[in-house]
Amino acid sequence: MLNEYVGIAPKGDLILIKRLCEKLRGRDFLHINSTRAGGGVAEILQRMIPLLQELGINARWEVIEGDKRFFDITKKIHNALQGFTEVLTEEMWEYYFYVNKENSSKIELGADAVFIHDPQPAPLVKFRPSKRRGIWFWRCHIDLSNPQKEICDRLMEYYNEYDASVFSVSNFAIGEKSLEFIIPPSIDPLSDKNVELTEKEIEDILSPYNIPLDRPMILQVSRFDRFKDPIGVIKAYRNVKKYNDCILVLAGSPATDDPEGEVVLNEVKEFAADDPDIFILMLPPFSDKVINALQRAATIVLQKSIKEGFGLTVSEAMWKGKPVIGGAVGGIPLQIIHRVTGFLVHSIEGAAFRIRQFLNSPEMIKRMGEAGREHVRENFLITRQIRDYLSLWYYMETGMKSVFEV
Ligand code: UDP
Repeated sequence: MLNEYVGIAPKGDLILIKRLCEKLRGRDFLHINSTRAGGGVAEILQRMIPLLQELGINARWEVIEGDKRFFDITKKIHNALQGFTEVLTEEMWEYYFYVNKENSSKIELGADAVFIHDPQPAPLVKFRPSKRRGIWFWRCHIDLSNPQKEICDRLMEYYNEYDASVFSVSNFAIGEKSLEFIIPPSIDPLSDKNVELTEKEIEDILSPYNIPLDRPMILQVSRFDRFKDPIGVIKAYRNVKKYNDCILVLAGSPATDDPEGEVVLNEVKEFAADDPDIFILMLPPFSDKVINALQRAATIVLQKSIKEGFGLTVSEAMWKGKPVIGGAVGGIPLQIIHRVTGFLVHSIEGAAFRIRQFLNSPEMIKRMGEAGREHVRENFLITRQIRDYLSLWYYMETGMKSVFEV
């Protein structure tokens, strides 16, 4: 099945994965996060866990359970880590810990390597089984470039208990612990989200949504979250619309660990008012083919985030040969090489300017789209991320011993 990636993913990654799997075959690799649906972490785990299993690794994916109160608290933590000001009372911290404690008795925590994704399940490290400790990694996907200090300090009591941490971008590393690694996320070129689709398939998939496909389409695919700046996207579109004909599509899905989605969706709808050329789609979870078709039908893809852990949607669009305009934050600059694979922007005006530049230059769309696809092939396919995760695990177990040493 790794064979299916031959000719798509870089050959060196496939060779290294095979070699690492010979070393780690049959070992237990546990991942824990806080949602099965919605957002980039679930997106990656849905694809990576079965792939690892087929490669002979005993990979397991568990999801912690929590109620609305818990996810309201963890969303506050998330917002504070990404730089918003939030107040968390002592009671909230206790409840955060309590829900994790409850989960620790329901989830089998014994494994050889354990990846705990993001802050929601971070306290689980306190319940690491004494008989089977394994190697525990805190895998942080969020933008830690400018966190609210008190909240960050408070989480240190958990962070310090991990053997190592993994961040998506180097400037998110906390720098207080020696073992911090940088591994960016990735997309699966063979998933429903990213496989090739014919023109006919695209039309059929999108026909229920009544979106005109004969006019330039600007698209942003994101959870309805203020950090994704959907209002800024509408403002940029309105600015463009004075000069160029186009439509705007904002597509999002709910995430069970994000309680703010509905509120933000309503704000966006209100702001869009009754513009018949703005299409706001709240799609059910796992609408992968619809997202795929939208990304392929789009003329230009935006990811105008003001904070962003990585932004899988950027690589997804680039893989489809689309020109992408993204906020110059978090993991977006890893993907968009300014003027080569797309444009990085810092404002609504900047986004509008770049949209117009693309709309007025089909040659530039083609050139940057092609460069973007190759950049993703080299750096952001799932095979590279599996290579990195397994290398890290193997490195942590064996120290500096090379993977090619017999
Ligand atoms: N996504 C989706 N449907 C939607 C909105 C988003 O399937 O309506 C997917 C999107 O294609 C991407 C992931 O959710 O794979 C979002 O990951 P990203 O890293 O861009 O952002 P996050 O939500 O993790 O902050």
